[in-house]
Amino acid sequence: MAHPTFDTHTDAFEHRQFRDDEFWRQIPAWRDVSRDQFGDHLWQGKNSVRNLKQVHETLGDRIGQDLLQDIEAALRIAPMNIRITPYVLALIDWDNPVDDPLRKQFLPIASQMLPDHPYYLADSLSEDVDAPVPMLTHRYPDKVLFLPLTTCPVYCSYCTRSRIIGGSTETVDKDTYGANTERWEEAFEYLRNNPQIEDVVISGGDAFNMTARHVTHIGESLLAIPHIRRLRYATKGIAILPMKILRDEKWMKAFLDIHKKGHAQGKQVYIHTHFSSPQEITQWSADAMKRLFAEHVIVRNQAVLQEGVNNCEHTMVLLTKKLSTMNVESYYVYIHDMVPGCEHLRTTLKDGVELEKRVRGVTAGFNVPTFVCDAPGGGGKRNVASYEYYDEENGISVWRAPNVKPGELFLYFDPIHRLSAEAQQRWADQASCEAMIRDAVTAVDPSLTEEHREKISKRLEIGVHQLK
Ligand code: SF4
Repeated sequence: MAHPTFDTHTDAFEHRQFRDDEFWRQIPAWRDVSRDQFGDHLWQGKNSVRNLKQVHETLGDRIGQDLLQDIEAALRIAPMNIRITPYVLALIDWDNPVDDPLRKQFLPIASQMLPDHPYYLADSLSEDVDAPVPMLTHRYPDKVLFLPLTTCPVYCSYCTRSRIIGGSTETVDKDTYGANTERWEEAFEYLRNNPQIEDVVISGGDAFNMTARHVTHIGESLLAIPHIRRLRYATKGIAILPMKILRDEKWMKAFLDIHKKGHAQGKQVYIHTHFSSPQEITQWSADAMKRLFAEHVIVRNQAVLQEGVNNCEHTMVLLTKKLSTMNVESYYVYIHDMVPGCEHLRTTLKDGVELEKRVRGVTAGFNVPTFVCDAPGGGGKRNVASYEYYDEENGISVWRAPNVKPGELFLYFDPIHRLSAEAQQRWADQASCEAMIRDAVTAVDPSLTEEHREKISKRLEIGVHQLK
């Protein structure tokens, strides 16, 4: 991995600079759009780009036929539809779109995509398996993940929930659903009946796609449960549509009322957001954060480590420091999940371990993200350096999750194209794959029972797609 470093002298103040030019005027369709209009969240929603025709119409001569065909080919195989706010589309460098980190995240091109890993899974984190009732994953003892809707203001190519988010594509038939207060009742009932649960992540989908009424309904229903102590509304919105924080007074009032109500009860109501590249950060983001900070709202960030997007020291340090400047706490950087359509975006575990070393210490510890691997099969988030075993040559790591699923082992696999030619040959043969996995698992626990071995094989079998 290339590591352009962050020079603490020459780059010292780069993180304090927030882009404030009229960058959208580089886009032919928006050349005459005023700052006021561009800053209107409703205008942003209406002018979001949702298909190839709109990409072409909006960009005009800024995009060539070759690239359009490349996107068209990608959309035939990608698990995610496209939906991009004008804010994000205009932040892409259209002089070099192929290498641009935002283009890579939201507008896939077939020439960069790779065959999925043999052990990829549509539900890589077993969220559906660990769901006691619809829309609720209960994996950690005191925490749940609530998925009240499956729509977002943008659709990310790397989405871990591509199995349900953003509508069916040519290759994935999805049970997408919108916000529906009646359908949430079963989840609330489960929470009322399980007093060990203290923490609810309200994700999806994206809280920016909820109406003010939905934000209130969810917040009030959860705050009314005495043992629920912490709510986190998850939205990528601050990164891709910061205007909503500045202009959507109805939504903001609904959220801030829940925040105040929670505070009065001694309960946390936070926002979790999702910046992955410093290029997503502008003066609009800083202004949105200024407003949230003034209202005492704590915002944490969860980034996804992606090849060619942020897997270099300079980018990751700049992201971390820029977020700190805006009062966003860097919480996690995830090693990319093993989901379909993302092999070109995944990095090795080693990349994560190395980057973590280079980011730690650049600023106060509470603003440095923990790099985690969300163990496939439902082991939960594990610190990247806490693997039980890592066969770097073959790209196999083995994990335990004592507080989540005691006694079980979990496996994460590096992308095959990043391995040596010899290792790639081994992955081309099913018998040698099985032998490599057996060796890795045995290295961790030579006394593993046959029953446990079978459990691991079964979990992996669900994911064997290309070897068969
Ligand atoms: S905003 Fe989150 S849930 Fe929505 S597409 Fe992006 S990663 Fe997936």
